[in-house]
Amino acid sequence: KKRNAGEPEFIQAVTEVFMCLEPVVEKRPDLVEAGVFERIVEPERQIIFRVPWVDDNGKVQVNRGFRIQFNSAIGPYKGGLRLHPSVYSGIIKFLGFEQIFKNSLTTLPMGGGKGGSDFDPKGKSDGEVMRFCQSFMTELCKHIGPDCDVPAGDIGTGAREIGYMFGQYKRIRNEWSGVLTGKGLTYGGSLARTEATGFGLCYFTEEMLKANGKSFKDQTVVISGSGNVAIYATKKATEFGAKVVALSDSNGYIYDPDGIDLPVVQQIKEVERGRIKEYVDRTSHKNATYTEGCSGIWSIKCDIALPCATQNEIDADSAKKLAANGCYAVSEGANMPSTPEAIDVYFENKMLYGPAKAANAGGVATSGLEMSQNSERLSWTFEEVDAKLHGIMKEIFKSCDEAAKEFGMEGNYMAGANIAGFLKVAEAMKAQGCV
Ligand code: NDP
Repeated sequence: KKRNAGEPEFIQAVTEVFMCLEPVVEKRPDLVEAGVFERIVEPERQIIFRVPWVDDNGKVQVNRGFRIQFNSAIGPYKGGLRLHPSVYSGIIKFLGFEQIFKNSLTTLPMGGGKGGSDFDPKGKSDGEVMRFCQSFMTELCKHIGPDCDVPAGDIGTGAREIGYMFGQYKRIRNEWSGVLTGKGLTYGGSLARTEATGFGLCYFTEEMLKANGKSFKDQTVVISGSGNVAIYATKKATEFGAKVVALSDSNGYIYDPDGIDLPVVQQIKEVERGRIKEYVDRTSHKNATYTEGCSGIWSIKCDIALPCATQNEIDADSAKKLAANGCYAVSEGANMPSTPEAIDVYFENKMLYGPAKAANAGGVATSGLEMSQNSERLSWTFEEVDAKLHGIMKEIFKSCDEAAKEFGMEGNYMAGANIAGFLKVAEAMKAQGCV
């Protein structure tokens, strides 16, 4: 804790994982002896750099850039780039740490990394975003590569930002390679990558529901956020027969008892980069309402909640409201959206809980498939990628379920995810010696 003072999100993430690993410590003294626990919490490398750029008024702006290369035991570092004003070392470190276990769960050979900047793309012109991305990549390109570290998108980093960064990398290195994922379809991107995290979340959740005698069919679902993950979770949950009744952004939430009119949301968010409040005036659904303040979304009655916005968005009070309203399953699209106290509430109320590192791993899994296609110089069809994604999410649920059973915590998928994700990386770290 002393070494990571001032980084509460990182300490929160490590505490959760290590609490779940207590039975592993007992069963596997060889891993303790190999120093795996001490080594896994210390990043292999952290890079912090200046990102200067010129705004539309000719004024110099300076942001701070980050890349953390946390663990390369099972493959090249892999993880997204977050562009949001809240970004600092503690956020990047918690995300990079989580990524180690998530990537391990995907069954693909990918290590853990993460990066980003405190730059806020909201309200910036395309030119400003491009100049920022070019400056960011001018430094980052010295530290990444298709066999070393392959960044991707995250909050604030979508296809536009990845495009500008990829262009700058190629220009500086004079090399066309799969150095970033989430690329456009005309230059090496994978079909189904855009949909992957939201679809994957629903594939995982459907498995979890099925294992407990339930399904999405005819269930009422609340989803937070209205970005990439939230939009495609809404689409797949609806295809599975559920009714999604709410979405949000950081200003407020919409409630539509007739079910979210997704094409309207996509037009506002994906095409116009607008705000979710505009939905009410744009949809033909007459009963839709907008409420200021995003945390109120958890007081809406639902069967299943899929938080898809950001870290710590569900606290104990919100979790209690969900439970009191009959919500029986929470499955996480966002990274660490539930506080530790909220997770306690889920378990006290015997709710099904799908933890982020398993439930949202479909995004990075499909990024792994994009890397495979780039290496092969081939592109697979949407159906091929989607089928592989579906298979991977089923496999992830199975390994969480089995690990939980093996270590005496049946039904605790959080423990299962942490243990299954950890063991593969830990074996590799032990085999590779004290590095
Ligand atoms: P987007 O930038 O596309 O959307 C983020 C959404 O969350 C927006 O609606 C945004 O609202 C809202 N949001 C962001 N920060 C806050 C905040 N502090 N308070 C309330 N709402 C907030 O990001 P993604 O959909 O890609 O990512 C969402 C989550 O999913 C993140 O936790 C991310 O790490 C995780 N994730 C994403 C993956 C991916 O493939 N994209 C893969 C795995 C995990 P506003 O516009 O007002 O900021």
